[in-house]
Amino acid sequence: MFSSIRRLFGIMENHVTLAAGCAAQLIRWHQTHTYCGSCGSVMEDKQEERAKICPNCKTVYFPRLSPAVIVAVVKEGKILLARSGRFPGNMFSVLAGFVEIGETLEACVEREVFEETGIKVKNITYFNSQPWPFPDSLMLGFIADYAGGEICVDAHEIAEAKWFSANNLPDIPGGISIARHLIDEFVNQQKPGLKTGDSQ
Ligand SMILES: [Zn+2]
Repeated sequence: MFSSIRRLFGIMENHVTLAAGCAAQLIRWHQTHTYCGSCGSVMEDKQEERAKICPNCKTVYFPRLSPAVIVAVVKEGKILLARSGRFPGNMFSVLAGFVEIGETLEACVEREVFEETGIKVKNITYFNSQPWPFPDSLMLGFIADYAGGEICVDAHEIAEAKWFSANNLPDIPGGISIARHLIDEFVNQQKPGLKTGDSQ
């Protein structure tokens, strides 16, 4: 089911894809919250809000949502893109990672970029967001400036990371993803009028 919804991205209109993703997340939540994690009783739907409540110990469970940051790091007219071993072919994208408990979004941006590439960032600015139901993420996009360091990739997460100029981009993600929106924003800031597709 989830792989088929992923195929809708870029084919269906955005609001249809978002609705399908929301439905898929809720189905998964219902399927994985049949029993109370505290006492093992069969859960019931809460009537007044989208939640489940245990009739025995009254524990309430809300739908699971996993926030993740995704960030375009810019240095002297170039963008930092990385290739994961999980990406198809030779595709590069912006860096991303899950927010940890007790962490601000800004601290998460700093940590993820440093852990994955050894680069320090500054001027972290919010861009926009995108629900990403694979299986339950909310992607929070940021743009940041290079502050220091040399690229040194975490081989567990990243196969390769490089700085790319707007007119010399590698293979990048498709049009509807927030990753592509961030890269498009970088290109627009560098060369007004140039679209990412023009460089390929
Ligand atoms: Zn319970």
